[in-house]
Amino acid sequence: MAKTHTDPLKPTRKGGPFGFWTSLKLWQKIIIALVLGVIVGAVLGPNAELIKPIGSLFINLIKMLIVPLVFSSLVVGICSMDDIQKMGRIGLKSFFIYLLTTAVAITIGLIIGTLLEPGVGLNMELPAEATAVKEAPSFIQTLLNMVPKNPIKAMSSGAILQIIVFALMLGVAINLAGEKGKPVANVFESFAEIMYKMTHMVMAFAPYGVFALMAWVAGKYGLEVLLPLSKVILGVYVGCILHVLLTLTFGGIMMTARLNPIRYWRGIIDAQAVAFTTTSSSGTLPVTMECARTNLGVSKPVSSFVLPLGATINMDGTALYQGVAALFVAQAFGIDLTTGQYITIILTSTLASIGSAGVPGAGLIMLSLVLTSVGLPLEGLAVIAGIDRILDMARTTVNVTGDLMVSVLIAKSEGELDEEAYNRVAEV
Ligand code: ASP
Repeated sequence: MAKTHTDPLKPTRKGGPFGFWTSLKLWQKIIIALVLGVIVGAVLGPNAELIKPIGSLFINLIKMLIVPLVFSSLVVGICSMDDIQKMGRIGLKSFFIYLLTTAVAITIGLIIGTLLEPGVGLNMELPAEATAVKEAPSFIQTLLNMVPKNPIKAMSSGAILQIIVFALMLGVAINLAGEKGKPVANVFESFAEIMYKMTHMVMAFAPYGVFALMAWVAGKYGLEVLLPLSKVILGVYVGCILHVLLTLTFGGIMMTARLNPIRYWRGIIDAQAVAFTTTSSSGTLPVTMECARTNLGVSKPVSSFVLPLGATINMDGTALYQGVAALFVAQAFGIDLTTGQYITIILTSTLASIGSAGVPGAGLIMLSLVLTSVGLPLEGLAVIAGIDRILDMARTTVNVTGDLMVSVLIAKSEGELDEEAYNRVAEV
């Protein structure tokens, strides 16, 4: 008799005390967990740190998936796309849209920062030591670094761009090998399927991880920490919401792709919740890919190429945050910026966001570059650092939302979007 396995993500209707919980869909569970986490964190205060390991376990579980998932699904994606030119076109298009949306995001950040004046009249106690500036690698060096000298090392250290380059070349070579390459292509196909299943298994744990992470954040930052800097937080959150609604949803999904925005939102909510609580777009990647494929109907070749690339180079939220933060620092120190300096901020923030890794706090480190480029005091970083987690939650969510929007746009323009799947109400 054939064995039957239940899908951990499918709602089941059972009675008993947990009947209600098990009958919920995954996204409903995640939202409830998020709200409960904030309440429990507010009640427990700093003691909520005790629950944090459950959140760390969840983060480790999804991180565990990244390298094998990205690698296998990208190789399969390339193998299934015999038209190499099409891949090149998709790469160029994605890069262009990524740059464009990032530049729009930072402009929104600068406008909000100018209108809201988050730093004006702030009495900041400045610590003597400023955070160290990290040297950004040069453009040529960045390009050279994309080719792994040792692919195994690239995998063990999780260097996503290097893994992408190796997977691309491997996929092309498998195709060129013709019949002889088929067995390896089959192995990767089977392996990628298994990794998708594993992603599903890990996602069943998401509500508990999200609950623990939210409780920890809410417990750590009481109102006393947040109030003095509430205008920066407000600025970043308002900017992020505007960018997501106007640029990504209205401009991207509705006007350019001509698709239903509600379906888009419904499809990406799991990835958004995981991004919001883990503050890592690279860490969220397995969930982002799952949402794109299953809920939005983006083909495997497109999602497995465009999304890992986006998680590494496309950071709309980070760029927007850098705009608001730079103005905050200028205002707090009473420094007037010239038009040239505004343009420099746009350029360096765009580059800095491309160079930021999709890990917690990367945007803060790259902010030092932006501040240095226009001669703003780095002491401002120390102030922002105190509340960076709260800002990181918003910007990472926007980063992931942007990656997903671009994957839908590209898929639609290449005839790689299953619109029936996009418009179907998702089951989980
Ligand atoms: N945490 C962000 C991300 O993973 C990067 C940042 O710090 O801005 O997308």
